Amino acid sequence: MGQERVWRKALPSGKITPWVVFQYSGAMSEQAEVLVLGGGYAGLTFARTLVELVPDLDVALVDREPVHQLVIQLHEAAAFSTPLERLAIPFERVRARARVLRRTVTGFNLPSRQVLTDQGPLTYRWLVIALGSEVSDAGIPGVRRAFPLRWLDDARRLRDHLATLAPGLAAAAPADRSAWQTIVIGGGGATGVQLAGELADWLRDDWNRPAGGRIVLIEATPSLLPRFPPELGREAARILRAKGVSLYLDEPVTAFEDGVVCLASGERIPTRTFIWAGGIRLPQVVTSADLPLRNRAVVTDEFLRLSTQPEVFVLGDCVAVADPRSGDRLPASAQLATQMGRAAAENVARAIAGRPLRPFRPTYLGEAVSVGRDNAVVRVGPLILRGLPGLAVKTFTEERYIESIGGMGLLREWSARSFPPLR
Ligand SMILES: Cc1cc2nc3c(=O)[nH]c(=O)nc-3n(C[C@H](O)[C@H](O)[C@H](O)COP(=O)(O)OP(=O)(O)OC[C@H]3O[C@@H](n4cnc5c(N)ncnc54)[C@H](O)[C@@H]3O)c2cc1C
Repeated sequence: MGQERVWRKALPSGKITPWVVFQYSGAMSEQAEVLVLGGGYAGLTFARTLVELVPDLDVALVDREPVHQLVIQLHEAAAFSTPLERLAIPFERVRARARVLRRTVTGFNLPSRQVLTDQGPLTYRWLVIALGSEVSDAGIPGVRRAFPLRWLDDARRLRDHLATLAPGLAAAAPADRSAWQTIVIGGGGATGVQLAGELADWLRDDWNRPAGGRIVLIEATPSLLPRFPPELGREAARILRAKGVSLYLDEPVTAFEDGVVCLASGERIPTRTFIWAGGIRLPQVVTSADLPLRNRAVVTDEFLRLSTQPEVFVLGDCVAVADPRSGDRLPASAQLATQMGRAAAENVARAIAGRPLRPFRPTYLGEAVSVGRDNAVVRVGPLILRGLPGLAVKTFTEERYIESIGGMGLLREWSARSFPPLR
């Protein structure tokens, strides 16, 4: 085993408690009682819950990044509304008495209970696969060259690119000006809508006069937010239009070639900035793992386990969850991911105690989608909220989450935006 650094936190009583242990390990096989792949919403919630329920258990959390990424706010960082570092919570600031191994998962050998990583194999008694999702280009030619928005690095790249638009426009030949001024987003789901709102406000507040930028949001189906209740899509469309966003509905993107977004109607939109938010898929490493798949998700039993390997749980964006009322697939969300994390941890604790497991039942409380710096559309039960009340609910859920992972201290620092710059 390689070097080991232990972050210690003094409790008021003077007792020293390691919250998180970072290990930088060599190539030999390492063991963990419980191995959690992915320190996102599902994996982190699982690890935090399990160490609370079974304090002496050896839980190792594997992530390729040293930080927990607040993915649900990436659009804010990409559009300069919030600093990037605010969305990168160092694992040592999270309240979870788990080892964190900074590694990239590269493959699986489930029959031998082995996970392959860039720094050698890991073995386990229990395994949790919570590696999130990747942006899918849906097989559309050229879309792979668009900007994605799935990780902090994507937000950083997009933000850096947006910063080049003003100087680029100033130096552009007249025939190229429109391409520099036009930002095109493909996909009118939650990511596309939230990003369009945020970028529209960035143009309004920081860039637009006299640059004359515009945002175009393209959605293949007849309404925005197609996986959400129709009122939310209608309301989001109304707010975006009021912010000056051009909406193209029922208009599939057919290609992105030579800096031009091509639409099914034949229209062609030249742009220097094409962002693709048209869907997600399983991470490549999960797809190639020979797991049972259906509808682009891993098939699990009602306890979120693989039926062939009951010691393996699969959580978060990697699995599809049906709405208990309608039977429709619920959209992938942090809300569901955290619920799965909690439910799976409780079941592992039950299994260890020799008690029967409980099936996972999602409690879908509603949806919250921000539409710019000053608005959000929210459904809570039968209630639809918008404007400041909507934004207040969205902000409250984000703050509740920060408090849940790091306590009031972390929330205070986070609210004060006092995180050190990202390295
Ligand atoms: C811009 C945007 C806005 C969103 N807004 C909302 C919202 O408002 N509300 C909502 O509920 N949902 C929202 N979502 C969806 C939500 O973010 C996801 O559903 C959620 O993050 C899924 O949680 P997860 O734990 O499955 O994956 P993630 O939270 O993505 O975590 C996956 C983890 O795995 C790690 N990882 C991945 N691959 C590897 C590897 N090979 N090796 C090691 N580590 C790896 C990653 O670093 C990451 O830490 C949004 C998504 C985006 C992109």
